Amino acid sequence: MKFNPIRWNKFLVRRLITPWRCNSVAMTTQLPVYTVSNNCQDCYKCIRQCPVKAIRVEHSRAGIIEDLCISCGHCTVVCPAGAKRYRSDLQLVTSWIDAGEEVVLSVAPSIYAFIGGGQQEIIDHLWSLGFSRVSETAWGAVQTSKATAQWLENFVGNVAISTACPSVVSLVEKYYPQFIHSLAPVASPMLMHGAMLKRAFGADVKVVFAGPCIAKKLEASCGHGEIDATLTISELLQLPSVRPPDSHHVQGWYPGAADGSSRCYPLEGGMIGSIDFRNLTFQPAAFSGLQTCMKILDDLSLAPLSESVFLELLACEGGCFMGPGTPTAGSAIRRKRGIERKSDDVNLSIAHFDIPEVLPDRAGLPTGNITHCVYSETDVISALESVGKHTLSDELNCGGCGYDCCREFAIALLEGKAERTMCVSYMRRVAQDKASVLLEKMPYGVVIVDDKLRIVDANRNFATMLGAEIEEAFEARPGLESADLRKIIGFYKIFSSSISTGEEIVEHDIRQGDQYFHVSIVTILKYKLVCGIMQNMKDERTRREMATDRVQQVITQNMKVVQQIAFLLGENAAFTETMLNSVIDSHDAG
Ligand code: SF4
Ligand code: SF4
Ligand code: SF4
Repeated sequence: MKFNPIRWNKFLVRRLITPWRCNSVAMTTQLPVYTVSNNCQDCYKCIRQCPVKAIRVEHSRAGIIEDLCISCGHCTVVCPAGAKRYRSDLQLVTSWIDAGEEVVLSVAPSIYAFIGGGQQEIIDHLWSLGFSRVSETAWGAVQTSKATAQWLENFVGNVAISTACPSVVSLVEKYYPQFIHSLAPVASPMLMHGAMLKRAFGADVKVVFAGPCIAKKLEASCGHGEIDATLTISELLQLPSVRPPDSHHVQGWYPGAADGSSRCYPLEGGMIGSIDFRNLTFQPAAFSGLQTCMKILDDLSLAPLSESVFLELLACEGGCFMGPGTPTAGSAIRRKRGIERKSDDVNLSIAHFDIPEVLPDRAGLPTGNITHCVYSETDVISALESVGKHTLSDELNCGGCGYDCCREFAIALLEGKAERTMCVSYMRRVAQDKASVLLEKMPYGVVIVDDKLRIVDANRNFATMLGAEIEEAFEARPGLESADLRKIIGFYKIFSSSISTGEEIVEHDIRQGDQYFHVSIVTILKYKLVCGIMQNMKDERTRREMATDRVQQVITQNMKVVQQIAFLLGENAAFTETMLNSVIDSHDAG
């Protein structure tokens, strides 16, 4: 494809005045990543992983904010609960194969990181899955490199950015609009190859792309019908064989094995390696990983370079072969070497491919509707205070909420993306305060003890019922935290026995000196933490409550008998109940 300045100008005008819209053909243009809300365990790993914090937590469920998301798919890899998922075309592709449709596979070079063996074994395996033809996306990469080099020859500007990675394109479109004009107006290898395959086999043939990328699912749905369905490598590896790999019938790569250097596109610097920069004024530089890409773009925004650079930016660290659509097992070095080994084969030239006269442009990804708010220091401080952070030392910056620091979290609160309950230290304090209030309000002595018989917490009633010395200690150290229970009460063994057996102890009457206690021990954390509830039996209220309890037990027991008798005699039991209840009332009044 020859670079056409007029076409490029039109392209720029269109781009700058109209936000691009997706040209949906067969596929949905919804984001490829979604959340199964009920599975979410509010662990915030996806927030931590998301480079652009495109996640909103509502009612403790983390959902994706479509306008902010750049479809990198990285959250799907880290979500431990299977709540973050990506759209799958697996069933669609299977149904086409089962129906005997002509389905051509465009397979990305990352396949060499996952299927070993020689060319023939790989082609045998892919053919056995039921595809009519199998071709390497690397053929499209040859065209992408060629078109990018032609564009660079005429591009005026000192930063040019590759557009093979749709996630990076989306990042620039949504977050770095100052660099939109730097994006090469060139279709990715996937779209190029799709267009080439449609030219070769007709518009009605189904072209299925398989690669390591989730963002490609969005890009494909935003193209012009070059690609009919996309599979990740993980999905491709799940497809069952539908025919034996019979070498007599295997047709081989279409139109032959691709150029070795184009197979390096999935590696950081792979695209640069396939372009001859000797006659270009741009210095090539490759970076991978979204955090790194963002750092580069931030730096360039603050301080432009004096020379012209061509940036090959890839969202996935190391390159596409580490993309989110690949199996999680397997070492990075083995993957990389798998691809590098296949880059040594130099095969057919692009002349063997029937290239369409008009090649596709870069797909127009949804630009989103992003409003960047700036919050005043007063707003941020008041958000921090709403989670109990009143001084700098309260800002722990622990990352528990998924944000790097407390201030980022405070801004997320202001943006309505976060909930206060996400702050671990705030929730801990709230829980502690609640527990302390409950503990203090309880009319009994309460002590919580760990497996070393160290006191974790106790209330004032507990200290008071053990005498002046313990009460004094409580004044000095409220809650008696870390005090040794063995030095405080003589009957500590029922605590150690409850901890070691894991069994609860209900209403034991125990004597210590001239004191009598009514003690129950309940488990908080089996074998680790128990709570003792103690009543002083000499205490008037305790005695009344215990007497009432016992009378109530007598009433309940007698009621059963009376009801049976009343049933048998046909008499009304109400009279008996009234009489017995009056016993309780007269006892309470006394
Ligand atoms: S990673 Fe995100 S979506 Fe998955 S369980 Fe954790 S909070 Fe929920
Ligand atoms: S796909 Fe990427 S950008 Fe979108 S929510 Fe997940 S991690 Fe964030
Ligand atoms: S680096 Fe490759 S796999 Fe990762 S998002 Fe970009 S194109 Fe997809």
